[in-house]
Amino acid sequence: MSDPVEIIKDEVRTLRPYSLVSQRARVKLNQNENPWDVSKEIKEETFRRLQGHVWSRYPGLQTLELNERLARFSGWKPEGIIAGNGSNELIQAVLMVTAGSGRRVLISEPTFTLYRQVSTVLGSEVVSVSFTPQLTYDADTLRKSIAATQPSVTIICSPNNPTGCVISRSDLIGLLEATNGLVVVDEAYFEFSGQSVVPLLEKYSNLIVLRTFSKAMAMAALRIGYLLAAPELVAEIAKAVLPYNLNIVSQTASEAAMEMYDAKLSGLVEMICSERDRLHAELERIPNLTAVPSQANFILIRSQLPLKQVFDELLRREILVRDVSSYPMLQEYFRISVGTPKENDALLEALWQISKELG
Ligand code: PMP
Repeated sequence: MSDPVEIIKDEVRTLRPYSLVSQRARVKLNQNENPWDVSKEIKEETFRRLQGHVWSRYPGLQTLELNERLARFSGWKPEGIIAGNGSNELIQAVLMVTAGSGRRVLISEPTFTLYRQVSTVLGSEVVSVSFTPQLTYDADTLRKSIAATQPSVTIICSPNNPTGCVISRSDLIGLLEATNGLVVVDEAYFEFSGQSVVPLLEKYSNLIVLRTFSKAMAMAALRIGYLLAAPELVAEIAKAVLPYNLNIVSQTASEAAMEMYDAKLSGLVEMICSERDRLHAELERIPNLTAVPSQANFILIRSQLPLKQVFDELLRREILVRDVSSYPMLQEYFRISVGTPKENDALLEALWQISKELG
């Protein structure tokens, strides 16, 4: 028999897998997670409600109660919502119904690597526009690229992972009006930027917004995301979502988290934003490092010091950060997530020492 792996599509075999260095460290600043766990009250309320559920029966398909709650929480209509097993699942669902051989997906890079990965697996051509030298969205080039390549989907990550920049409302409107395709705005980090494009959904029926409970909502382990779009579009995208994609534990926890957001979660978001601003200012003082302005819960840092040694020295001090040096434009960069004040202090102290030792 010939090598079974040869059956796999060429474009998939040449793709690098989504991966992450899985080192353990006392201070974990590599995955843009919320450094605080959800409160005891949210967990207890979730467990209390779960006791009352029948576990032998399938959960609802897309449950009305959850979608109604997501609608109230996000300011959109329940029939224009799909809940997913993480927003990753919804990125995949959108691309499954729009991307494929002979179609193009337009992205700006460097960005979240899953967009390119899923588009490529599905056989689409990926058209990539670079960010400006200041690592902000290049809306002019994106518009030109839309005119030239007629993409089925344009994906905008705002705030963008890993640069931290947001797209302006007027630039986004320019793209929505320039394209005959769909525009996906991934708002995984919107809570940290204080702005959202959800109000544009009413006017632009080609806009899709993706959100997650993995960052500000502090529930990455439970895998909950949601998609907002025009109901007609949602009805089509839903055909690519597996039945019963969201388990009852995650559904229940997400409802409790939304109900208690103001009391138990929004304060953490404010704290993360003020820590981000403090970290940015402090990082700017450290020789050999330059911090990129961010509207998310992470900061991209340019290093004049050898990156490998910076990682090793940080790891020796039990601090884990993200190596993004293989991303386009980011050969000299690493990314840190905003941690607790204590974790951020540990990072700053370590970076001061490393800068002195290696500089
Ligand atoms: N979008 C972006 C921009 C992300 O950075 C991430 C996670 N790192 C995701 C989506 C995936 O989130 P989820 O945990 O909801 O699948």
